[in-house]
Amino acid sequence: MKIEINQQLLVSEIEQLATFSDADPPAVTRVVFTSTDLKARAWMKDRCRNAGLIVREDAIGNTFARWVGSDSAAPVVGTGSHIDAIPNAGKYDGVVGVLGGLEAIRALQRAQFRPRHSIELLIFTSEEPTRFGIGCLGSRLLSGTLSVDSARKLADNDGSTVEDIRRRAGFSGELSQVKLPDNYYKGFVELHIEQGPLLEQEGKILGLVEKIAAPASLRVTIEGEGGHAGAVLMPNRHDALCAAAELILSLESAARTSGAIDTVATVGICDVFPGAVNSIPAKVRLSVDVRDTDLTRREVVLKKLEETCRTTSAERQVAIHSELLNADAPAQCDPAILQALRESCQRRQFSFLTMTSRAYHDSLFMSRIAPVSMLFIPCRHGYSHRPDEYASPEDIARGTLVLAETLSGLAA
Ligand SMILES: [Zn+2]
Repeated sequence: MKIEINQQLLVSEIEQLATFSDADPPAVTRVVFTSTDLKARAWMKDRCRNAGLIVREDAIGNTFARWVGSDSAAPVVGTGSHIDAIPNAGKYDGVVGVLGGLEAIRALQRAQFRPRHSIELLIFTSEEPTRFGIGCLGSRLLSGTLSVDSARKLADNDGSTVEDIRRRAGFSGELSQVKLPDNYYKGFVELHIEQGPLLEQEGKILGLVEKIAAPASLRVTIEGEGGHAGAVLMPNRHDALCAAAELILSLESAARTSGAIDTVATVGICDVFPGAVNSIPAKVRLSVDVRDTDLTRREVVLKKLEETCRTTSAERQVAIHSELLNADAPAQCDPAILQALRESCQRRQFSFLTMTSRAYHDSLFMSRIAPVSMLFIPCRHGYSHRPDEYASPEDIARGTLVLAETLSGLAA
């Protein structure tokens, strides 16, 4: 079978999709369920139908475009990504996986491939957290990772709920119907730009993702005692910021000594009250983000933080309260899909790097219901989520070719 990617068509489609935008080019802004997003979706569905695919949408707007296999009851081979874009983003994040997935299917059709398993392109709703404050809304619902009740309650900045917005956008039906049945998938592969600099630095053509890291995020509040910066003497102080400093350094040390490079911990926000030069900090609020590819290791860091909260609270006589906001489990990719990707790279003599996805993607959630892997292509300087995001046509075509070969192997 001779699979050929129509690089020119694929690149021109990426350019066309970028014209559905609420920002001036080259920037792309396409927030979920805005009229721009809905126009882009309509255009995408047309492209899919032109390729002979059967299109269906679920209640949250996840869009499935299916090339029906000879055994229509067999589990599906999936690919896809997202087309929503954060404000002032680029053209490639998500889009490469959607239009690349479509071109992979068309290339297999041109090569007279006859799939046994249906091959399905999936366009996820709201991978970006821009509108509802939570990323991967579509895939969380597909995989049952987010409960329907929690999803219904989500609202945007104008106070409109997911429930209202999606219905206004034309997506009826019940959110409880979104979750896919077990064994729906034989496998799922997502093509994506790397969004980091490693492939470029190492001079490799493709990245095969074996692990997807996931964050746990917490809000930690420390309440001490305020007072005049001159009048309250050192033995009598319960300075909330000094306690916070101990927590931050202890967290850093816990991540550094976890024994794995994949463990990272960050305090990105530190709000100090009352925040005056001559006032002892009475209250501090910290944001904590701990990420890892291994859940047990991440738990060890969180335990250490908890322990430090206890000891610091006792020693300094301050109240410390921590609240777990979110803790998605990391994912291991499927060895058989990785092997198929590897073999395709070797056949095509494309150099590759086996890597960890440190950003998370819809595939993280799809891993709860399907064997998954991701395929990364380089992006210039590792830039992403900015207008000068760029992936070369050659890299896009090579990623699409390996995707097509891998899908054909899984669907045969
Ligand atoms: Zn993305």
